[in-house]
Amino acid sequence: IIDVEHLSKTFGTHEVLKDIDFNIEKGEVVCIIGSSGSGKSTLLRCLNLLETKSSGKILFGDTEIGGSQKKINDYRSKVGMVFQSFNLFNNMTVLENCMAGCRKVLKKNKEQSHAISIKYLKKVGMAAYINAKPAQLSGGQKQRVAIARALTMEPEVLLFDEPTSALDPEMVGEVLNVIKELASDGLTMIIVTHEMAFARDVSTRTIFMDQGVIAECDVPEKLFTAPNNPRTKEFLTRFM
Ligand code: ATP
Ligand code: MG
Repeated sequence: IIDVEHLSKTFGTHEVLKDIDFNIEKGEVVCIIGSSGSGKSTLLRCLNLLETKSSGKILFGDTEIGGSQKKINDYRSKVGMVFQSFNLFNNMTVLENCMAGCRKVLKKNKEQSHAISIKYLKKVGMAAYINAKPAQLSGGQKQRVAIARALTMEPEVLLFDEPTSALDPEMVGEVLNVIKELASDGLTMIIVTHEMAFARDVSTRTIFMDQGVIAECDVPEKLFTAPNNPRTKEFLTRFM
């Protein structure tokens, strides 16, 4: 569903992504692990057009992504993103946060937007909080609302950039459980995470990124127990 070919990204003289080749099929869950600064966020940001690539190709289906603002907005409604820092609108209620995209991006009417928002707030267990403002919620609750908001676009792919890194430890589980449930529903996802047990559990393939390259990509059963690359092994021993 997404195909990345020879993707490179340079900031000044620093080549942050080097000739990345990667694809994800419908229904797959790909987790990306790797050290700080290895380029994980930059890769996701290129996939969501928050960053412009320096060279290479990114295809969605068989169409190269980008172009007019309309095409970009259309693409972003199909490929959603959930951030570490939630990015909710603090002046809006939970329900308004979820409805905003349906109304503005998908141009749905108020009733439809309301129904879709409630459906996904229920899914993440936040339907009881529709009138709360983000400031009244815990980090885990905010992130679940952010996931519901992303789901209201009914995306074909959902990207997550360290969705639990900003959370207190006791709230990590509730967010990971929501993501696990989405995985069992068959949603296609790319998840950057430092939660190794989760990555091992949920991913169909795991990618280890190291200094701007995909150092290893394999099924988790293999990557976490018998990695081919010594760098993967060294990284994993720091976590396990
Ligand atoms: P982390 O685990 O800390 O989130 P990461 O793997 O997500 O790390 P990136 O955020 O993709 O890493 O950053 C990769 C490299 O690119 C880093 O060296 C970073 O300093 C650099 N970088 C990222 N964004 C920019 C930018 N806008 N301008 C210049 N350099 C940048
Ligand atoms: Mg990052």
